[in-house]
Amino acid sequence: MTSTHWHDKARELAIDGRAFIDGQRTWSRTEQVFDNLSPVDGRKLGAVARCGAEDVDAAVAAARAAFEDGRWANLAPAKRKRILVKFSELMLKNREELALLETLDMGKPIKYSLAVDVAGAANCIRWYGEAIDKVYGEIAPTPSDSLALITREPVGVVGAIVPWNYPMLMASWKIGPALASGNSVVLKPSEKSPLTALRLADLALEAGIPPGVFNVLPGYGNEAGSALALHMDVDCIAFTGSTRVGKQIVQMAGQSNLKRAWTELGGKSANIVCADCPDLDAAVAASVGSIFFNQGESCNAPSRLFVEESIRERFIERALALVPGFTPGDPLDENTVMGAIVDDVQLKTVMGYIQQGKAAGARLVAGGERVRSDSGGYYVAPTIFDGVDSSMAIAREEIFGPVLSVLSFTDLAEAVKQANGTPYGLHAAVWTSDLSKAIRTSRALRAGTVHVNQYDNDDITVPFGGYKQSGNGRDKSLHAFDKYTELKTTWIQI
Ligand code: NAD
Repeated sequence: MTSTHWHDKARELAIDGRAFIDGQRTWSRTEQVFDNLSPVDGRKLGAVARCGAEDVDAAVAAARAAFEDGRWANLAPAKRKRILVKFSELMLKNREELALLETLDMGKPIKYSLAVDVAGAANCIRWYGEAIDKVYGEIAPTPSDSLALITREPVGVVGAIVPWNYPMLMASWKIGPALASGNSVVLKPSEKSPLTALRLADLALEAGIPPGVFNVLPGYGNEAGSALALHMDVDCIAFTGSTRVGKQIVQMAGQSNLKRAWTELGGKSANIVCADCPDLDAAVAASVGSIFFNQGESCNAPSRLFVEESIRERFIERALALVPGFTPGDPLDENTVMGAIVDDVQLKTVMGYIQQGKAAGARLVAGGERVRSDSGGYYVAPTIFDGVDSSMAIAREEIFGPVLSVLSFTDLAEAVKQANGTPYGLHAAVWTSDLSKAIRTSRALRAGTVHVNQYDNDDITVPFGGYKQSGNGRDKSLHAFDKYTELKTTWIQI
């Protein structure tokens, strides 16, 4: 499809920024709205309900009532499955609208909104729907005069707070397992990207998820977000976002009702390429492709590249040859692979780090500037710094933009030490032909996921989450049910 197709569709698109509470679209009880701006060209997309504590109270009350009367929680798992599969099918039926909303709202290229975000989110909802009638309880090996049943029960009302970098996908990683296991959910999307979450609520209702079970409250973090995290009638808060806010979420859980607090936080993932890597071109392509994918706005982006000194020059040369392929373009053009940064605030953050890198003495070998400013949107050229050392801010802090920091090493043990020398522990990678070295290095890397000789593999069947200050718990896979269920033991005397 041409960019004209998408631009025409964008002009015709109806934006509904109202919240979704108890099965209905509604403006905020605060009577306030905020402007939703598109990073593609800076234009206003529409007004969005600025939800506050009163809306959180209403949504939590609706979610609680729905949970208590069992309209969803007490349905046979096979029935919940059918409804979630229908929900997933409706997402695919509306794929163009959802993809367009995602691209206009946060700036990613339309082809990835379609192929990654809509497809991945729909697959996630379907997968948890299909899984839920295959999950069994346990009987413990107790003495024969008794029976101990171990069953899983939904925790009750789940509050979910998600970021803007993969709005629909991050939402689906929470609502998929939470809804499948019978909970009611109140979702707060990022104020920077509320539109797809709101459409998901419409589609969930159309699929047959009863009113009250799934509510969506757009609004600011320090208003709707904190009211949700502090709420005394929310049983679990599932958060994805920055480490800074994740710490506050855990505090708010402790300060209120000690709700279960699950956090999926930031990263500064290390990608270690040894001189004996089996395929240098593959290593270069994955390293460059993964940091520039989604404009570098990925929690697991391999933003620190440790390359063995003997291949550093060759590596950089080949990486630079690939950079023009990531030149930012119109996100509504299907040939574009790098789109817009989410907003002017994030643009300033990214440009600030580029300035810091230069000032600290790192060698800027690609990019480093804002581009396409005449579009009215926020675009940054794919940027590579060589000669970075671990003390520099660009090697320590999460930039969340298309900026690669290249460090070199001669001693692998020292590289691993530096790779681990960060508060984060989300992803890491090692490239080598030596199997024992790969396994030893993988074991030594303190990260929730370690890639060996690739970086891009991803599947709903595998857990996703971090060590250290990258968070706790795991999204995706059957392990995600652990976050949204309580284990109950029932002793029966025989
Ligand atoms: P953020 O922490 O600023 O915001 C995340 C969400 O929290 C938003 O909905 C925001 O409104 C809300 N929020 C902000 N302040 C709050 C408060 N005081 N109380 C309650 N809620 C509040 O993060 P962001 O900028 O939206 O997203 C980028 C971050 O997300 C990066 O650090 C990235 O690494 C991380 N992330 C992690 C994963 C993962 O799975 N580990 C996935 C995607 C993104």
